[in-house]
Amino acid sequence: MAQQEQIFPPPPPLLTQKPPFEYQLLKHRAVPGIAKLDVYRANGGYKGLERAVKMQPDEVVNVVKASGLRGRGGAGFPAGMKWSFIPKGPGPKYVTCNTDESEPGTFKDHELIENNPHQLIEGVLITCYAISSENGFIYVRGEFARGIRVLKRAVEEARAAGLVGQNILGSGWNCEVVIHSGAGAYICGEESALLESLEGKRGYPRLRPPFPAVAGLYARPTVINNCETLSNVPHVLREGAEWYSKFGTEKTKGFRVYCLSGHVERPGNYELECGTTFRTLINDLGGGAWKGRNIKAFIPGGSSTPMLAPTDEVMDTPMDFEGIAARGSMQGSAGVVVIDDQTCIVGAVLRLVEFYKEESCGKCTPCREGTQWLVQMLHRLENGESREGDLELITDVGGNIAGKSFCLLGDSAPVPYNSALKLFREEFEYHITHKTCMVGPRAGKQLAGVH
Ligand code: SF4
Repeated sequence: MAQQEQIFPPPPPLLTQKPPFEYQLLKHRAVPGIAKLDVYRANGGYKGLERAVKMQPDEVVNVVKASGLRGRGGAGFPAGMKWSFIPKGPGPKYVTCNTDESEPGTFKDHELIENNPHQLIEGVLITCYAISSENGFIYVRGEFARGIRVLKRAVEEARAAGLVGQNILGSGWNCEVVIHSGAGAYICGEESALLESLEGKRGYPRLRPPFPAVAGLYARPTVINNCETLSNVPHVLREGAEWYSKFGTEKTKGFRVYCLSGHVERPGNYELECGTTFRTLINDLGGGAWKGRNIKAFIPGGSSTPMLAPTDEVMDTPMDFEGIAARGSMQGSAGVVVIDDQTCIVGAVLRLVEFYKEESCGKCTPCREGTQWLVQMLHRLENGESREGDLELITDVGGNIAGKSFCLLGDSAPVPYNSALKLFREEFEYHITHKTCMVGPRAGKQLAGVH
């Protein structure tokens, strides 16, 4: 595969994307061949690193703090603040980039690493410099074989140009970047399980504290940031904190890649300013629900976030951490999944919960056993075999998983059911009273005993 190959097709026309916004993270769409080092550098690449190595590490941390860049993995923790927790002084420290993208509805890392690998490598290098580390690791989901190849080639290109390895850009600072392939487990996107996996062990979450900033990879202080977060860092250093903080909302600065999927006319990755509304993304850019249907609900930030109904108030909500929280959901990974009005919500919830059952690592009982029970009961419900009281029973089982499990996967497992039940209770009840679906291809058909 030629390195400059564009894996993703050109984006759909940007009907209402605010001019003069230009691609930053997805610059490969505007600049073909930017995966190659010379093209990347000709378009401002590694300028951020050049600026960084002329500063003191603390100054770099302060620039990122001032930019307002927040982590894109889900929690939205300020990136510069996280870096500042790393203790000063001698001894190894590590930077780990979480590119184990597996959240249903999220597919941006895939595009970023395959098409613009130097952007991420530069972000990792700047972060290493900021915390005085000499080792950066990029942990990539095992299924992203092409992305892994592209990243490895890019690291070697960078090494040949003196951007990785010894005495980087003549600064006297040395830094290695290692590309590590995961083995395809969703749980390894949980940061402590990722560290276990990176150390060569089974990807089980760790008990915290200690937190990674104190004892992370190989029990040394470690910064863990998501791929999209670190892909923002070169832009912050190249253009400055003031420039970066002009984009976005008061508390969520910059730009991000929103993944739009499900029942929409034009699914895909859309790079927009933080705080763009759902209406702009789903209707103006995404073309609205497909096949002339209506939107029944959508998931705003990957499958772990509560579903929302497309009321005017919700559609005009800015897509930032605070705006979405005010509507009762979360920004999460910015994976927006649209569900049309011909979808049986019980079936949709079952598919989502099956994912968590499948990916439960099995370390703790509430999640390992509880997700099995959730799936069995939802299966029964979907097939018209439930009894009165089963909805309460499912809620009860979910309540014994969330908040009682070892990691966030357990907390996430009941989310699709709980949020859908709140919005569409009559559909769930219909399955009990009528033994069939209210909408969708199986609507009105007798389901019990025929699956
Ligand atoms: Fe594993 Fe689930 Fe427990 Fe997390 S909550 S440790 S995924 S069993």
